[in-house]
Amino acid sequence: MGDILQQLVAAFEKMAGSFQLLSRHLSQQVDELSSRNAALEARLRELTEDHRHLLESNTELSRAVAELSRKNQELLQRQEELQRQDHLKTDFLATISHELRTPLTALKGALSLLLEEELTGPRREFLEIAQQNADRMFRLVTNLLDLTRLEAGGIGLERRWVDLVELVKSAAGMLRQAAREKGIQIQLSYPEGMAPVWADEERLLSVLTNFLENAIKFSSPEGRIDLEISSSPDEVQVAVADQGPGIPADELPRIFDRFYQVEVPQGRRIGLGLGLYICKAIVEEHGGRIWAERSGRGSRFCFTLPRHERVQP
Ligand code: ADP
Repeated sequence: MGDILQQLVAAFEKMAGSFQLLSRHLSQQVDELSSRNAALEARLRELTEDHRHLLESNTELSRAVAELSRKNQELLQRQEELQRQDHLKTDFLATISHELRTPLTALKGALSLLLEEELTGPRREFLEIAQQNADRMFRLVTNLLDLTRLEAGGIGLERRWVDLVELVKSAAGMLRQAAREKGIQIQLSYPEGMAPVWADEERLLSVLTNFLENAIKFSSPEGRIDLEISSSPDEVQVAVADQGPGIPADELPRIFDRFYQVEVPQGRRIGLGLGLYICKAIVEEHGGRIWAERSGRGSRFCFTLPRHERVQP
């Protein structure tokens, strides 16, 4: 009996020990779980806060998007309005320049007829001044008309087979007098037996006269202008070199831009800065290249035209 009691007591003591262990273990687990729970609650609070911020940012963003699309709409309307005004301006310029050309042509014709007569002294001088100014005005008006055509999509060429050497000779002939007045010589060189080019004769003539007029305008008196045609199997090249002040290297890439004129230190600019821009359009519409470079004592303006196979009828 005493043994059994002792065994029971020992068994209870063992059980009590195990209970104690178990209860310590459980209370550790409870502590751990409650600290994890506290961390999770803190994280949840953080997430709720983040979510609230996100909602606020989202509202702000939607407001900004709405504002942007309103501004975009306004810009589109303004752009449409500007395009409409630009078209009106181009139409107006086209009409004005076209209308001005007709009386100017009549004026030029009348002046040429008068100058054919035997006139001397101041009368001839005045008429020549009037003719030079009528020519200048005609060129300006033609440049404006070409500008409007360019803005409407292109100059529009009327091509046929053109004898380039003859054309260059007649451009030089037209400006020989103006060159002579400044004591400038125009030297022409070209290869013999050149095949004709497929081009718009009138337009090419205006490129050549533009190059030559500029060369005369910028040449120092008693200078020389070299007008040179050269030819390769793929293209022909025309170059006009003068002995003027030249064009600063940093201005060269912009010289063919619309309305571009090189800064003049003193004095007024002459012209509209459209001549070379239109020359570029004409040459490029022919499929050629155009550029300016410094050459020795002045500038050299060049353009090329691609060669076309002439199909025999
Ligand atoms: P515009 O139509 O007003 O005569 P251009 O387009 O023909 O003008 O020429 C633009 C500018 O290029 C001129 O204002 C001038 O500054 C410069 N330029 C053109 N040709 C020459 C040249 N041969 N030598 C020096 N500068 C030139």
